[in-house]
Amino acid sequence: MPDSAHQLRIPAPQLENLIAAIFAAGGCDAAESRRIATHLLGANLAGHDSHGVIRVPRYVEWMEAGYVLRGQSIETVTDGGAFALVDGKYGFGQTVAPQAVALGIERARQHGIAVIGLRNAGHIGRVGAYAESAIEAGLVSVHFVNVAGSTLVAPFGGTERRFSTAPFSVGVPLPGRPLVLDFATSLVAEGKVLVASNGGKALPEGALIEPDGRLSTDPRTLYGDYAPVGPRDLSAGRGAIRAFGEHKGSGLAFMCEMLAGALTGGGTSGPVKERTRIANGMLSLYLSPDAFGTRAEFESAGRAYVDWVLAANPATPGEPVLAPGDKEAATRADRLAHGLPLTPDTWRNILAVAHRLGVPTPD
Ligand code: NAD
Repeated sequence: MPDSAHQLRIPAPQLENLIAAIFAAGGCDAAESRRIATHLLGANLAGHDSHGVIRVPRYVEWMEAGYVLRGQSIETVTDGGAFALVDGKYGFGQTVAPQAVALGIERARQHGIAVIGLRNAGHIGRVGAYAESAIEAGLVSVHFVNVAGSTLVAPFGGTERRFSTAPFSVGVPLPGRPLVLDFATSLVAEGKVLVASNGGKALPEGALIEPDGRLSTDPRTLYGDYAPVGPRDLSAGRGAIRAFGEHKGSGLAFMCEMLAGALTGGGTSGPVKERTRIANGMLSLYLSPDAFGTRAEFESAGRAYVDWVLAANPATPGEPVLAPGDKEAATRADRLAHGLPLTPDTWRNILAVAHRLGVPTPD
């Protein structure tokens, strides 16, 4: 559904203030409330509504249930200088992931390269945001992410849930032309199923699979029956999301579970034994083109390559070839200028949380 079909357009600063007020009313300090709000808004601005403010009711629920904890700081588990493993202690992902990224940036500046494992982080949201932080520091970065304890995606050739939506992101700091590849290894992020179930953009063909192998686009395959306003129960559906890219995407999801889940010690998507919390794990690599001694060549060859790829004849007239991150940059510019589109159901769900917490809401 194009933006024009959304019924509401809300100015980003107004919405960000409301979201920050909701988390402050829920007990987060001012800095953490603002970080969560800015990150969620950033996902909407990038066009990833699945990881934006639609998550507010669920985040508040998790906070109230103690699944995600306020005011945490990463704890060092292992420190080898150019590599480190840190524990997010189930803190808000928007707090502990930026701390892990800051550590990676600091260590890559010292050593030229850094590998940082983060485990037990609350939902870290749009992973591309962390690639963008590395880009701002002039670093290439690669992020393998999993969601320990969240089993939603069928492997290639299977119908049962085995993987998490295990996102993957790469950031490349070409001056004035940053590249940000950032996607879930599932055919759609779970949040996109959430958006579709809230009256938003419909799912693409074959996004979901029923236990008998039939393909589906109905969110009920994942959530079972649901009311328009209210929570979605992932355990109520009998089907799964499909991995993207057939055997290749399924293989990348597998490796995200291995590197972000098993290697960090945070755990994989399953088998789940007495796990009360789901949490993100992230294995990140940071590389400095300066340390490689190739910054100038990297930038000129990189720019020339981007220009050459984008000059390829479009398959559909009027729809030029894009580089990773271009779509998000264009959406961001549009939404900053014209406000953020929200479906009425999403807006009503946010207002319901605000009212419950006594936060004043706009008319
Ligand atoms: P998506 O399918 O929209 O793919 C986005 C990627 O494809 C971007 O790099 C984008 O620039 C590129 N792209 C899009 N259209 C393009 C085009 N026409 N030409 C060239 N490149 C194009 O993303 P998704 O899989 O729905 O993921 C959405 C978000 O969900 C991501 O930000 C991801 O990090 C996040 N996510 C987070 C978690 C978590 O546990 N924290 C889990 C899953 C997904």
